[in-house]
Amino acid sequence: MLLRRISLCSLFIILVGCGSNDSDESDVDYVDWPMHGLTNEEQRFSTLSDINEQTVSRLGLAWSLELGTTRGLEATPLVIDGVIYTTGAWSVVHAIDARSGKRLWTFDPQVPKSRARVLCCDAINRGVAYDNGRVFVGTLDGRLIAIDATSGSQVWETATFDPARGYSITGAPRIAGNLVVIGNGGAEMGVRGYVSAYKVDSGKLAWRTYTVPGDPSKGFESEAMERAAETWTGEYWRGGGGGTAWDSMVYDPELDLLFVGTGNGAPWYRNLRSPGGGDNLYLSSILALRASDGELVWYFQTTPGDHWDFTATQPLMLADLVIDDATRKVIMQAPKNGFFYVIDRETGQFLSAEPFVKTTWAEGIDPVTGRPIEASGAYAGMEPVLVSPDPTGAHNWYPMAYSADTGLVYIPVRDETVFLHRPDPDWQPNDSHRNEGIDRRYDGPLLGEWLGAAPPVGRLVAWNPVAQEAAWKTDFPVLESGGVLATAGNLVFQGRSDGVFAAYRATDGKSLWEFDAGTGIMAAPVSFSIGDTQYVTVMAGWGGGIGLINPPGLGPVKPGYGRILTFALDADEPFDAPNFGNSEPPVPARASNASPEVIREGQALYDSHCFGCHGVMAVAGPIKDLRYATAEVHDQFEAIVRGGAREPLGMPGFGDLITSEQVQAIQAFVLFRAEQSSISEMGDDAE
Ligand code: CA
Repeated sequence: MLLRRISLCSLFIILVGCGSNDSDESDVDYVDWPMHGLTNEEQRFSTLSDINEQTVSRLGLAWSLELGTTRGLEATPLVIDGVIYTTGAWSVVHAIDARSGKRLWTFDPQVPKSRARVLCCDAINRGVAYDNGRVFVGTLDGRLIAIDATSGSQVWETATFDPARGYSITGAPRIAGNLVVIGNGGAEMGVRGYVSAYKVDSGKLAWRTYTVPGDPSKGFESEAMERAAETWTGEYWRGGGGGTAWDSMVYDPELDLLFVGTGNGAPWYRNLRSPGGGDNLYLSSILALRASDGELVWYFQTTPGDHWDFTATQPLMLADLVIDDATRKVIMQAPKNGFFYVIDRETGQFLSAEPFVKTTWAEGIDPVTGRPIEASGAYAGMEPVLVSPDPTGAHNWYPMAYSADTGLVYIPVRDETVFLHRPDPDWQPNDSHRNEGIDRRYDGPLLGEWLGAAPPVGRLVAWNPVAQEAAWKTDFPVLESGGVLATAGNLVFQGRSDGVFAAYRATDGKSLWEFDAGTGIMAAPVSFSIGDTQYVTVMAGWGGGIGLINPPGLGPVKPGYGRILTFALDADEPFDAPNFGNSEPPVPARASNASPEVIREGQALYDSHCFGCHGVMAVAGPIKDLRYATAEVHDQFEAIVRGGAREPLGMPGFGDLITSEQVQAIQAFVLFRAEQSSISEMGDDAE
């Protein structure tokens, strides 16, 4: 039960004065948000209704807490007995009094900043798990740590991967019975994905299940891996394989099944990874694992032989739906590939799928098998192909919500996105840096078409999973909108990358309330109550993969200082977000003095090693905009880029990958971009 009374505290008050700094604290009713998606089903539907379509206009800020970072904040906070447990950048855990916003403790796992080099998508974390007085966090450098929820001190720690490899943890752990389960990311860095389960009390490894096969000469870990290997060709293990389970997991205690979403291939491209073709199991799949031992019970592959970074790591959601007059236990997902899937979670049987965005890669889904009908232009071996959706996906990790009251799933959607896939003929396996297999020097056909594509559209879509069609849509001025909360107040709460946090009527999408959070929002809101007061809490902080890459077409995104915000009816705390970023054109620190050839070389190197954090064409989002680098920075350019002189600030060294001459070319490109921006581009870049 979510609702509980602190009877133990009532008992203690007689003996030791429990809750003595607030005398009526001892008998408070709490409605918690105790798990990542609120319940095991992860529907993110709060039954609280004091804040509703009639009262929401009275919603105001109760408190805000600055977290001292400009990196992305993606966590869903947990709320247990009036305490918020959440995570910020670099896997730091915060415990906060949910009523006052006062910090109770902070746990910093001291992740080495050199880790930034193997992160595809920012130094982010999506939250903690909680069980029996302990908080569990997975760190960017691969540790799973149990923390005492009261004191904030470490109980146990275990290494979940070899930190010499290109793995990372960004997802929230999940509790499955007496186990705590965690996956990892790194398919962009050339790793082989797996999921591990540890004993909650001791941190001892209970089982580990790989998601793709390894080198057959070393033997297969299971029959499932042996069967999977039959769907790969060539020396596929040399590139790692991928299939990393970096976010979604749900646990059904009744079936004792743990459902896990797996990621794209490593490298991205089918012809580089498995030249003879094949489905490449279990990439881009939903896996049903027996929670007690990790054995594969069934699987459903959403994108066989994935060629487009179409992960199936997007949030998984359980529900009981009435389909053709029968109640079905289903699992639902809106993965990157743009189709909304409804699958029987007991058997893995495909029930239905329809597109919720423009999908040029597939003409539809076979209604019997659930297999996509791949479009003729979607794959051409080593030839480039132009495909929608893009690799960030029609829907990414941003949590969706389901209201049993309306029967609708609320999905943060990215429509009309397009990407030019161009496999690199010189690709070689390497897991020490970004290595998807994209040809960053590509200058051939389709490039102009891609660069000239119309801007994509961001929207909130209310999807009827039974009818497989949209009930309503709300278009936004920005492409990226964040995680969603639905409530029994007939409301849907969602933030956006322009800093707007809003409430919509769940039945028709009418906007009923807005608040400017001062910085872009990606994370999902939560709702809980303490005593008679219902609260809504959300983390605001723009970044992540798309925020750092900062491509054109995002709209007026708002990078800035990250914070946690909590709202209640009739609250009116003042709020004034500090300014962030540059409002004036850059003044180049010096002339680039380089030939067009050197600048072009520098751009290609920048596109291989730098753009993932410092932004497309050196136009940065939440971190240092290199066009504004000072003369002092340019004096130390090689010491910073090759030598790692600024590693404590999060800029790792690249001395093993880039020569001195190459650093000079990158520097020339950066200075060239500063010169260009100082003259003509400020109007575009100021956004
Ligand atoms: Ca990926």
